[in-house]
Amino acid sequence: MTVTIGVFALQGDVREHLHVLGSLGVEAVRVRRPEELDAVDGLVLPGGESTTMGKLAATFGLLEPLRRRVAAGLPTYGSCAGMILLADSIEDGITGQETIGGLDVVVRRNAFGRQVDSFEADVCFEGLEPADPLHAVFIRAPWVEHVGDGVRVLARVEGGPADGKVVAVRGGTYEHLLATSFHPELTGDRRVHEVFVQMVRERS
Ligand code: GLN
Repeated sequence: MTVTIGVFALQGDVREHLHVLGSLGVEAVRVRRPEELDAVDGLVLPGGESTTMGKLAATFGLLEPLRRRVAAGLPTYGSCAGMILLADSIEDGITGQETIGGLDVVVRRNAFGRQVDSFEADVCFEGLEPADPLHAVFIRAPWVEHVGDGVRVLARVEGGPADGKVVAVRGGTYEHLLATSFHPELTGDRRVHEVFVQMVRERS
């Protein structure tokens, strides 16, 4: 069965996600309007700037529809800024920063910033096939400060000043939400997207 996966396309690295999804044999489409959101089986919230994405989503009348569909079980994957948008709670957000929510985590925005703005590291990511370490690219990335009940940790930073920090999780009422601090869409390694496509197929 062909599934359709939308990429939230008001801001962020939209093309990179469309490209990876397209290469995995799903119908990959841009989502800018509520009607476009209605038509997808899964959604990617790309990296970018979470404050801008939240504001644009509100301006384009997408914020409430996004909240409704995500709460109702739409499989959704957020990378970096997308992780922030899925979080129920944000540390170091701007005043009044809006999120979509659904993932019972506290996410710290720009968390690695105090040490280093952007970096790359290999992480062990649970459930990938093959199970080799994943090369992860972090760009002004958040980390997960607190993991709520029912949220599974899939990857942590290993070594360095941020050793042990949580950088990938899966959760939500239907285990339908996937979030990473880093950007697998930038590395050519498609395994994280494969996990997400599988999540979408299982719920379609
Ligand atoms: N720091 C950005 C934010 O707060 C996220 C950065 C990214 O997506 N690469 O939204």
